[in-house]
Amino acid sequence: MAHQKNGVPLLWDETTDVIVIGSGFAGLAAAAEARENGAAALILEKMPYFGGNSKIAGGGYCCWDSGLKLREKLGLGEDSWQLHMADTLRGGGYFNDPALVEVLVREAPSGLDWLIGAGAVFRQMLHRIGGHSANRSHHAACNLADVVKRKALSSGAELRLNTAVTALCRDGMAGPVTGVRVSENGAKKTIAARRGVVIASGGYGRDVAMRTAYQPAAGASYNCTNHKGATGEMITCARAAGADVLHMEFIQLFPSAEPKNGGLDKFALDAYASPGYGAIYVNNTGRRFVNELSGRDVVSDAQIKAGGKPTYAILNGAVFEKLGRAREEILKGVTSGRIFEAETLRQLSEALGIPPGALSETVTGHNEALKAGIDADYGKPVTAQMLPLDSGPYYAIAQWPSVHFTMGGLRINTEARVIDIRGKPIPRLFAAGEVCGGVHGSNRLGGNAIAECIVFGRVAGRNAAGG
Ligand SMILES: Cc1cc2nc3c(=O)[nH]c(=O)nc-3n(C[C@H](O)[C@H](O)[C@H](O)COP(=O)(O)OP(=O)(O)OC[C@H]3O[C@@H](n4cnc5c(N)ncnc54)[C@H](O)[C@@H]3O)c2cc1C
Repeated sequence: MAHQKNGVPLLWDETTDVIVIGSGFAGLAAAAEARENGAAALILEKMPYFGGNSKIAGGGYCCWDSGLKLREKLGLGEDSWQLHMADTLRGGGYFNDPALVEVLVREAPSGLDWLIGAGAVFRQMLHRIGGHSANRSHHAACNLADVVKRKALSSGAELRLNTAVTALCRDGMAGPVTGVRVSENGAKKTIAARRGVVIASGGYGRDVAMRTAYQPAAGASYNCTNHKGATGEMITCARAAGADVLHMEFIQLFPSAEPKNGGLDKFALDAYASPGYGAIYVNNTGRRFVNELSGRDVVSDAQIKAGGKPTYAILNGAVFEKLGRAREEILKGVTSGRIFEAETLRQLSEALGIPPGALSETVTGHNEALKAGIDADYGKPVTAQMLPLDSGPYYAIAQWPSVHFTMGGLRINTEARVIDIRGKPIPRLFAAGEVCGGVHGSNRLGGNAIAECIVFGRVAGRNAAGG
């Protein structure tokens, strides 16, 4: 260990300009932007692989506009940053910090264009997903984390795997953060940052102890969609350096996860996106139980109260077509037992073991609601994109809530500066992505996380490079 004063090393093992902790969307975007702004950038990643939750993300990116102009091209009506902001605040129960939300929604389109500039390709479709009042979910046709990694590394950032940050070094409780302590392949080291440190270490969905410390209801009985490294030690480290946290008790369940392992495979994502095209969710008695276009918190809660695990998304071939799912993929899902297929609703009910009459009645009632333009039972907004389920083949996808996203974390301002417990920015400490709290309030809307990571990651990297 080098000599130190007040816990800060006097001699460091290594020095760079900007240290980025975590190699997901937020960290990679921050590193790329720090490089753009003339700073050397070192990304530290504790796992033997890069990318965290970002590498396994579904690639849904919500923004109200972009250079792609898909809304106009596909004739999907009006949208605006104000509408995106209103949805995000409503979805978050108005717990969100409106200033952060405004940065997110105003900058989300330029974030998407930045991804495209880095080589990302998006499908020619724009979904409307739960909690959003417009079709604004863009869908990547590539792995976005690979794209952002390429962008960061080609700009000259260094990525170091197997390197866990174990502490932040701060020059007294009023001074700047000057570097970090790490365990690099098991060896202890100190690394100084001349300009800034960006915490982009993701959420704590896999940290059952931290989850239950703040939200006892989000215990080990739930599966989790996250990668193994989604643990909250950097939040603890930042608190030790004086950082404030907020909203730690807000933990999101993803309603359409695969019921056995809690993962998000492509069919879980189809089940999630399908209500925008007319699919319904039913319980094990064949009845609807929720407005399927509600936020994830409402749908998950309704499922848990719906009478048993699992519930099902019910759709047909025409809805699958809208989701862009190829016939061969559907057949593989059927063969593996992941999805159920039948020519008639009666046969589908038999396969699911639910009363046949009830499912037909539910589907007929919903078809009539679409025709009338009013969902009298659950108040779902009926749109022209919703198709009646009036012809086979019919499909059922089993689904159940799984811990997915942690809304709470470090308090930041609109410059991505970490705020301390007295309400002041901690000099030279920045944070972006899921490690932060305040952007999503009590419940994140789908497609808002990747946008958050890219937008605030870039803000953090730019400002960290500024020193
Ligand atoms: C299966 C799945 C699908 C999703 N799909 C979507 C989607 O389609 N659209 C959307 O908007 N959102 C989606 N999300 C949410 C979104 O992907 C995440 O919120 C986002 O990727 C988080 O990015 P991040 O950069 O903040 O953190 P991460 O991508 O999780 O990266 C953080 C990294 O920091 C590392 N780290 C942690 N602690 C340390 C430490 N002490 N030292 C060094 N490294 C550390 C971690 O190992 C990890 O690699 C999805 C999430 C999951 C799990």
